[in-house]
Amino acid sequence: MAKESLGYVKLEWTCPSCGTRNPGPQKTCQNCGTPQPEDVKFEQAAEEKLIDNADALAQAKQGPDIYCFYCGTRNPATAKTCSQCGGNLSEGEARRRGEVLGAHRTGPVKKIPCPSCGFLVHPDVPTCPKCGAAIARPAPEPAAEPAPSKPVNRWVGIGIALVLLALAGVCAFLFLGTDELTGRVQTVQWERTINIEQLAPVERETWRDEVPNTAVLGVCTQKVYRVQDQPAENAKKICGTPYTVDQGNGYGEAVQDCQFEVYADWCSYTVDEWQVTDRVALSGDDFNPQWPQNISMNGTRREGARVESYEITFNADGDLYTYTADDVESFNRFQIGSRWILEVNKLGAVVRVQPAGK
Ligand SMILES: [Zn+2]
Ligand SMILES: [Zn+2]
Ligand SMILES: [Zn+2]
Repeated sequence: MAKESLGYVKLEWTCPSCGTRNPGPQKTCQNCGTPQPEDVKFEQAAEEKLIDNADALAQAKQGPDIYCFYCGTRNPATAKTCSQCGGNLSEGEARRRGEVLGAHRTGPVKKIPCPSCGFLVHPDVPTCPKCGAAIARPAPEPAAEPAPSKPVNRWVGIGIALVLLALAGVCAFLFLGTDELTGRVQTVQWERTINIEQLAPVERETWRDEVPNTAVLGVCTQKVYRVQDQPAENAKKICGTPYTVDQGNGYGEAVQDCQFEVYADWCSYTVDEWQVTDRVALSGDDFNPQWPQNISMNGTRREGARVESYEITFNADGDLYTYTADDVESFNRFQIGSRWILEVNKLGAVVRVQPAGK
């Protein structure tokens, strides 16, 4: 994320003695004279105006205030000696900075009624211009935090677990439980297939610089190619909500995190690729499987993958069961009329066979 500064704003602090709100850079309360406490918590104004005064800007940018080691007075970052006691500030401790105070508050703000006379005032004024009453800080807007997810009811969870367990049990019963039957081979069936492939146009999509040389370019559209922190030509800037960061000196910096979406051409293109366009098959009910022969291969056709399948049908007390052999060697063992022990699952599928002897 690239941080972008929008500018600086004046923060506020509330006097712990009299409750008056004071501008952040002011070191003593404008109402009662109490000095800004050491653990002062700066707050955002209801409406944060970007500072354009050059002196104030320089103050805002100079860094966090330094506490005098001897008397605790706050001094600006640029001071060498304490304005109060003259002590050397190189011994002092700089105030913390960098805390994110909240979303940058750009206007306009709603006026609020004076608690004493009801006159509508800007929430950032410390006192009512009509009656002089102190204007309290308006309650902060409800935080836009995601609603806490409801804790899932324990019993619902247990119920779901039980249902899953039951389902697993049913599956285990169906697929693991088997019956043993004795059957005789009634028929066998083999099939051997050769795929025929032909070069044919296929439409695909990719980034423009990855389109193959031999392809015919189709339609291109702009798409986000990557997101990066550095600006670039033709990149689209995407920024998050601006927020205010405490500078430790009564000012805040309004910043936003930005990234840049770099666009590139995403194109469709057409290329010739080998595709299965035909199948030539041979089948039979004996133990002499053959591959199809004399397939006509003109210039644009070629042989593709070969597929073979071997199926045995058993008769067990009048019920028929089929079984698929892995290869031609095991297929040859299932001579017509031979007896086999079949392991049959609850769905009626033969999962294993073994010779039953004579
Ligand atoms: Zn005060
Ligand atoms: Zn001092
Ligand atoms: Zn008033």
